[in-house]
Amino acid sequence: MYPAAFEYFAPASLEEAVELLERFDGEAKVLAGGQSLIPAMKLRVTAPQALVDINRIGGLDTLAEESGGLRIGALVRHKACERSELLQGRFKALGDTAPQISDPIVRNLGTVCGSVAHADPQGDWGAALLAVGADVVIQGPGGERTVALDDFLEGPFATALEPTEIVTEIRVSDPGPRASGTYLKLERKIGDFATAAVAVHVSLDNGAIGRAGIALTGVGPRNARAKAAEQALAGAEPTDEAIAEAGRLAAESAEPWDDHRGTAEYKRNVVRVFTERGLRTAIDAARAG
Ligand SMILES: Cc1cc2nc3c(=O)[nH]c(=O)nc-3n(C[C@H](O)[C@H](O)[C@H](O)COP(=O)(O)OP(=O)(O)OC[C@H]3O[C@@H](n4cnc5c(N)ncnc54)[C@H](O)[C@@H]3O)c2cc1C
Repeated sequence: MYPAAFEYFAPASLEEAVELLERFDGEAKVLAGGQSLIPAMKLRVTAPQALVDINRIGGLDTLAEESGGLRIGALVRHKACERSELLQGRFKALGDTAPQISDPIVRNLGTVCGSVAHADPQGDWGAALLAVGADVVIQGPGGERTVALDDFLEGPFATALEPTEIVTEIRVSDPGPRASGTYLKLERKIGDFATAAVAVHVSLDNGAIGRAGIALTGVGPRNARAKAAEQALAGAEPTDEAIAEAGRLAAESAEPWDDHRGTAEYKRNVVRVFTERGLRTAIDAARAG
């Protein structure tokens, strides 16, 4: 099917882009990689009056370390993350996520910020970024504001973003010197969305777990942190018992459903196993530093 007719704009600045979004009063959409928006328009799931293409705006493709944390600009593609040395080591939960997103064609164009703005509960970046700890930087008519990712993601395909606002950047906090993580995703075949997936991040403090981030994909209405598991691990020694208990708590916090990818019970068990496995991998990698 062809999309419904729409106007197309390719502004050269963020200010101009925001003005265009205001002019269409909620009826225009930002176009980044187009890997979710264009298929939705072709299926007529969405029919915006206008597209505001941000690809010609300079300075939005920054992927850089700053003050120990990371800046991921609105035009940073999945591909750039897949190839970046920055996302190994302390940010390995992100480095492990990138190559598991769809196929090379989608990864060449799709963006991290676009995924977060799209807020698909099956999307992979939301969980990985929740686990490492991230904020969303937003530009709108009133200027810039920053929202914690956990508050930004409100539900399936729903965020705290106003229709006149643009995500300009994601900022990841400094995880400290002894940190690592991973992203474990079960998919029916290469390129599929997750049956279930778990992002794990650990920062060690004198050998104990200082901060643990655990977040889930595809087992609830949004990417969500397994907060009880995170809390149980904070300050704990990384023993087999603590890891098993975290796996149990993460599985308990999942809200899966039966579908063509598997039963709710099966997905909950995947969450338990992946949480335990991910924690062991992350702790070993953080120790090796
Ligand atoms: C075949 C296929 C398989 C896929 N498999 C996976 C997968 O396994 N895992 C996964 O996580 N994803 C998957 N995706 C989705 C893919 O990762 C998309 O790239 C991503 O969801 C959206 O990023 P985008 O840059 O393409 O955004 P777009 O498609 O351009 O936009 C998506 C939505 O976000 C809004 N938006 C985009 N950028 C901004 C911004 N900076 N500010 C405000 N709003 C913005 C748009 O207005 C639109 O509503 C798949 C897509 C396809 C086509």
